Amino acid sequence: MDCLFCKIAAGEIPAHKLYEDDLVVAFQDISPQAPVHFLVIPKRHIPTLNDLSEEDRLLAGHILLTAQRLAREQGCEKGFRAVMNCNEQGGQTVYHIHMHVLGQRQMHWPPG
Ligand code: AMP
Repeated sequence: MDCLFCKIAAGEIPAHKLYEDDLVVAFQDISPQAPVHFLVIPKRHIPTLNDLSEEDRLLAGHILLTAQRLAREQGCEKGFRAVMNCNEQGGQTVYHIHMHVLGQRQMHWPPG
């Protein structure tokens, strides 16, 4: 499958990985929008948030808990933003779900 994040998960394309286990990989975003900006992805190819199903409950929770733990490890004790863009109008550009975690600067609302 020609998917950038599947290739990163498989180690076929280099990335600065922060964490990896059987289910997920976390790595630095190549174009960071904050001093801390990493992505948490499932190893399994799931194109968008709309493609998650009931069977993915544990996986979805694992993505969130991994994001929370790594944000803490990256020194985001004052707070951080975790976001998953979905489809074109949501601003998604890579069609393999990923949770963005951004921190170490003040976030603003609403996002653009
Ligand atoms: P989204 O627009 O929500 O789909 O986010 C895709 C993210 O993937 C963007 O923040 C990109 O900077 C990031 N990205 C694209 N290619 C790579 C790569 N090779 N390694 C790490 N991050 C990437």
